[in-house]
Amino acid sequence: MSREPCTALVVEDDPQIRHMLVSALTAGGYQVHEADCAAQGETLAGNRRIDVFLIDLGLPDGDGLELIRRLRGWTQRPILVLSGRTQESEKVDALDGGADDYLIKPFGVAELHARLRVALRHAAQTSHAGRTSLRLGPVAIDLDGKTVTRSGELVRLTGTQWRLLALLAKHANRVVTTRQLLHEVWGPNQSDHAHYLRVYVHQLRRKLEPDANPPTRLLTETGVGYRLVVDD
Ligand code: CA
Repeated sequence: MSREPCTALVVEDDPQIRHMLVSALTAGGYQVHEADCAAQGETLAGNRRIDVFLIDLGLPDGDGLELIRRLRGWTQRPILVLSGRTQESEKVDALDGGADDYLIKPFGVAELHARLRVALRHAAQTSHAGRTSLRLGPVAIDLDGKTVTRSGELVRLTGTQWRLLALLAKHANRVVTTRQLLHEVWGPNQSDHAHYLRVYVHQLRRKLEPDANPPTRLLTETGVGYRLVVDD
């Protein structure tokens, strides 16, 4: 069976960044479609088979966030946001709006390809009903059985610790925003309680990390949220 190339849609108005993306993606074996505004991006998205989207947040005819929300109305394909450092809050809004991950400009080609691989792998897994067992070195998480073991020994977690870990595990290798975590673990009116989250993350690190300092598995994404890094 011949494998069709993976198709990417780049929506970016800065010509230099767009050209860099198109050449890096083409060199990586992707078939690339490009747009310099949200309207053109939306048209291409509707007319072509797209496997992964790369969308700039600051577009001349509206913001990328609005485009992401519209795409999420009909596609579950991965969306990577391209964001400037000054767009911290928009980046968080984009993740809450359905984007899978983000790249902060300027970014390198190696980082671009690494993030794309994660996003595409995750999309393939979720389309196969999702993985229910994950490994982080000696730690094994069984989402169905609701158990965690470390070197074969059961790790005891409180209900809240488990809900937090399970949510991060369901979005393995991807950032989950502080807002999402608070909302889903503590409830809809708890968005002001980011300190709860820090306390529980600290507790989970002590149980899961090989060495809690610096963490290598439960990573802080400064100003955004947290990411659980699991083995392939
Ligand atoms: Ca821009």
